[in-house]
Amino acid sequence: MSTIAFIGLGNMGGPMAANLVKAGHKVVGVDVTQAAIERHVAAGGVAGGSIAEAVAEADVVVTMLPSGREVNALYLGENGIVPKVKAGALLIDSSTIDVDTARAVAKVAAGKGLAMLDAPVSGGTGGATAGTLTFMCGGEDATFARAKPYLDAMGKTIVHAGGPGNGQAAKICNNMILGITMIATSEAFVLAEKLGLDAQQLFDIASKSSGQSWSLTTYCPVPGPVPTSPANRGYQPGFTAAMMLKDLKLAQDAARSAGAVTPMGAEAASLYGLYAAQGEAGTDFSGIVNFLRGR
Ligand code: NAD
Repeated sequence: MSTIAFIGLGNMGGPMAANLVKAGHKVVGVDVTQAAIERHVAAGGVAGGSIAEAVAEADVVVTMLPSGREVNALYLGENGIVPKVKAGALLIDSSTIDVDTARAVAKVAAGKGLAMLDAPVSGGTGGATAGTLTFMCGGEDATFARAKPYLDAMGKTIVHAGGPGNGQAAKICNNMILGITMIATSEAFVLAEKLGLDAQQLFDIASKSSGQSWSLTTYCPVPGPVPTSPANRGYQPGFTAAMMLKDLKLAQDAARSAGAVTPMGAEAASLYGLYAAQGEAGTDFSGIVNFLRGR
């Protein structure tokens, strides 16, 4: 059993921390929201005080925060994780953040002799609760090996994508594919409607043809063909348009920084920006099909 400081007990972090409790660890939870701490205690966790107090006792620190801004501040701030953590502790950041911040924070941590893994996830709140998340990890081999048992308690598929920052790189590349294919799939269904082609017919054909993708066969943006997709429940998330927009912007930042040409990614970011600005930021990202219909 380890003592784990878990910082950021939100929609994802809350259930992830609960799975570490179930695995038998002492999980000291920290969040700025009192309600999140109370849920953590109800799930068998321990309420932490300040970040400095929580990490001073921890063998492992896991963070699940909104963006790179919070990660940078909480790891590198004066009373933050890197200055205050116990010597030899393992640091795991599962937030989805920009590659540059992930690499910069890992470098400072390494300078202090601390092993750090970036380990963003896919699988959403359902996967976080069920303990079936996919973790995409960036860090040294030894760091990955140390982190794996903890990640196994929260996820089903744990992949080592290379050195520091490569977990974030894998995550934003994957989600750029997802954003683009969701728009492409939605456009095809809107065109089919106009051409008098039934949605189920298009699904049956495209799902067995070269138009096949996860956006079509697992998360179909129109009601009917895939009963579990958000289209069948009024586009309640799931994965919000705001989250997709965040990841597409991270992909664009990374493309600019690395000098990669990603025009379809740029267009997807622009379309999700317009969709979210229409008051749909909290709608599932597959609802973009309605935006493309002009609704
Ligand atoms: P969330 O907003 O529900 O949770 C973030 C938590 O961090 C909140 O409880 C917030 O109070 C806490 N927090 C913020 N600043 C803090 C600080 N200074 N100190 C302590 N706690 C602080 O977000 P979420 O949905 O849990 O997402 C977390 C991360 O996971 C994000 O980076 C997101 O992009 C990523 N992610 C989310 C999903 C999803 O489906 N929700 C899926 C994959 C990845």
